[in-house]
Amino acid sequence: MSDKIHFVTVGSQKGDENRVHIFVNGKILDSESPVIKVFDRGMVFGDGLYDVIKFQDGNFIFLDDHIERMKKSANFFGIKFPYNLEKIFEIGLELATMNGLKEGELYLQLTRGVDVIRDHIFDDDYEPTFVEIVQPVRKMNPEIWQVGAKVLLHPDLRHQFCEHKTTDLLPNILAKKYARSKGAYEALMFREDERGKYVTEGASSSYIFFDGKKIIAPKIENILPGITRIKVLGLAKEMGIEVEERRVYLDELLKMKEIILLSTLSRVLPIVEVENFKFKKGEIASKLGIAFKDLLSSHLEVK
Ligand code: PMP
Repeated sequence: MSDKIHFVTVGSQKGDENRVHIFVNGKILDSESPVIKVFDRGMVFGDGLYDVIKFQDGNFIFLDDHIERMKKSANFFGIKFPYNLEKIFEIGLELATMNGLKEGELYLQLTRGVDVIRDHIFDDDYEPTFVEIVQPVRKMNPEIWQVGAKVLLHPDLRHQFCEHKTTDLLPNILAKKYARSKGAYEALMFREDERGKYVTEGASSSYIFFDGKKIIAPKIENILPGITRIKVLGLAKEMGIEVEERRVYLDELLKMKEIILLSTLSRVLPIVEVENFKFKKGEIASKLGIAFKDLLSSHLEVK
C-alpha cells in the first residue's frame, strides 16, 4: 500500500491562502490579528475546551450534539459558556460566507478567560474567551476509505479528563506525530490494567471492533464520547448488529475480523493494518460507512 494514501493534505501553515476571517469574543477579525492575550488561560495553561464540526452546504453537521458535549464539559470545569446554539450557528454561517466556503471545518474554542498575571489559581467569575473559525476542510485522499488505513500502537499518556475535549493535547499530538512519521494514519492508544494492555482511542479518533458476531466498542471510561461513535453505534443497533461496550485488550486484536476508526473528519474508516498485522476491510465497515453517509445526507436535507 502506498504511504501517500495515509496523508492528509494540510498545506503550508504560512502564506495568505490560509488566512480566514475568525470570530473572537464578539468581533470578526483576520486570523493574522494578534487578538489572544498572553495571559489567556488557554494560552498559558491549556485551560480550555474545543470542538471540531463538519460544515457543508450551509449545515454544521450534528452541531447540537457537539455543543451539548462542550457545554457539559464547560459546566464540569466551571467555565462559562457564552453563546447558545443559534448564535454559534449564525456566527459560523457568517464566517463561512465571508471565507467563501461551501464545505469546511468549524473549530470552536472556549477558554476560562484572561488573567493579569500567570497564576494557577482562578476565581469563579472569569469572562471566557470564545473563538469560532471556519476554515477549508483538511482534504484526505478519498482512496483511503476504499483502501483502508494503517495505525500504530502508542501508550496513552494523557490525564484523567479525557472524556472532555480539553485543549491541552500534547500527548495526542505526539502520538499522532509518531504514527505519521512512520507512515501510518493514526495512533491506536492503550492503557494497562491488571489483565493487560487495553485500547483507549486514537489521537483524534475513536475505534470500534467487529469480532465476527458483534461490534465491541471501548467503554467510555476516560475516553472521548465521540459524536461519530454515538451515531455509528446507533446505526449498527438499528441494523440489528449487537453492540457490546467493554475494554478491548491488545491480545484480542488479532482475533478481530474488522477494526474501524471513527471521527468527524475520517467518518467510518476501515483499518487494514495495526503495526504489521493485516486486517481485511470487511462488510461491517462498508455497511456502516454507507449508513453513515445516508445519515449525513438526511441531516443535510432536513436543515
Ligand atoms: N477521540 C479523540 C481524542 C478525538 O480528538 C476525537 C475527535 N474529535 C474523537 C475521539 C472523535 O470524536 P468525534 O466523532 O466527535 O469527532
